[in-house]
Amino acid sequence: MSSSTPTTAPATTRIRAAGTPGRSDVVIVGAGIIGLAHAFEALSNGLSVTVLDRDRQPVGASVRNFGHCCISAQDGELLALAQRSRPGWLRAAKASGIWAEEAGTLVVARSATEAAVLEELRAERGGDAVRLRTAAETAALLGRTDGGARGDGGSSGSGGLVGGALLPADLRVNPREAAPGLARWVAEQPHGRILWGTAVTGVESGTVHTTRGPVHGDRILICVGHDLDYLFPDLAEDHGMQRCRLTMARAAAPAAFRTHAAVLTATSMLRYDAFTGRPSAARLREEVQGHSAELLEIGANVMFTRLPDGTVLVGDSHHYDATTPPFVDERTAELLIGAVADVLGVQRLRILERWQGVYASSPRGPLLVRDLAPGVRALSVTSGIGMTLSFGLAAATFDGTLAPTA
Ligand SMILES: Cc1cc2nc3c(=O)[nH]c(=O)nc-3n(C[C@H](O)[C@H](O)[C@H](O)COP(=O)(O)OP(=O)(O)OC[C@H]3O[C@@H](n4cnc5c(N)ncnc54)[C@H](O)[C@@H]3O)c2cc1C
Repeated sequence: MSSSTPTTAPATTRIRAAGTPGRSDVVIVGAGIIGLAHAFEALSNGLSVTVLDRDRQPVGASVRNFGHCCISAQDGELLALAQRSRPGWLRAAKASGIWAEEAGTLVVARSATEAAVLEELRAERGGDAVRLRTAAETAALLGRTDGGARGDGGSSGSGGLVGGALLPADLRVNPREAAPGLARWVAEQPHGRILWGTAVTGVESGTVHTTRGPVHGDRILICVGHDLDYLFPDLAEDHGMQRCRLTMARAAAPAAFRTHAAVLTATSMLRYDAFTGRPSAARLREEVQGHSAELLEIGANVMFTRLPDGTVLVGDSHHYDATTPPFVDERTAELLIGAVADVLGVQRLRILERWQGVYASSPRGPLLVRDLAPGVRALSVTSGIGMTLSFGLAAATFDGTLAPTA
């Protein structure tokens, strides 16, 4: 991910002349957000693109998530990549008409330790990037009719609100329409095409083998997310790749709920590097372990985001397996939904849908970038932040600054 020597040929701005049917400058395997961000960037660079997906529409991680471009919570190289992603998302939204809102993230503090972590982040990043909020301001953003005083003091460990922070750089998109909308846009471009229902079975330089025959391209990008192990099991094993499954739900929002910002809580602060690197983070972990051990056992990141129709996406838990069991544990779902209801200051949420999401994960690193043959690259985000990084990765791929990972 460093900006050292380019590892792939620089992008050309040449469009393949008609008369070479079926051959594209770039062939992309996978119509999730990683593949589609690369397709958008390639088309923007004047390249011809073919995207292949085994399914008939995007149904992978990219439509099952919160639609949260969680830029500010990253640190180091990932922060730089996430910041690079932001203008890409906004350009793609403008071009394709998909919804992307500069809504930011609201991090809720319900103890002095949580507030201390936010204050420490503000001290490091500055008051423009981390805007501290009082308890009353945080309660108003959440639409809490009790002013934020109430908390269950139990499973979610909450007393009332003590404050919060708004991280304005973060974006929100609708995960249910972002990838499908981008796919539509790609297919409408004169030099873009998507072949749905086309499963890839193998790849070599210049050729992708599919269930509908070979597809040819100068440059091949394999963006199949957590299913990389089906195509390249040795590569996935070498990176320690696993499937992370997450319990999710969509709920009717309480009547007073207003903010369009994504909402993060203490368990979120234990999962993102911007917070875990702060001096008070260790104390926060002990505190959460003391009052919410059950949430830590399910790997909870208690957070929620609002869809344009006003309903809220609620989650999530983290369990790691080589192969994903299909069963969704009701106790896990109840714990998460109860914890979100507590932040919102309501007794219960009316659940409209439930599902399980799956993404690629690895303890060995947040990204897998490997060159498999001349002009053939595999690219998976193995840290659960593919929405955040997608357009930054695509920009770095096409300017030649995305180096292979070890
Ligand atoms: C519940 C949940 C919450 C999340 N929350 C966030 C968040 O808040 N912020 C964030 O940044 N990220 C979040 N993520 C992570 C993010 O969703 C993923 O990192 C990202 O969507 C991965 O995109 P992808 O394109 O690699 O994979 P996918 O979206 O899974 O797409 C891969 C595509 O490849 C296709 N494919 C696979 N194999 C083949 C083959 N052999 N031939 C043809 N096609 C194939 C599949 O059909 C699929 O369409 C979350 C994920 C989940 C599940």
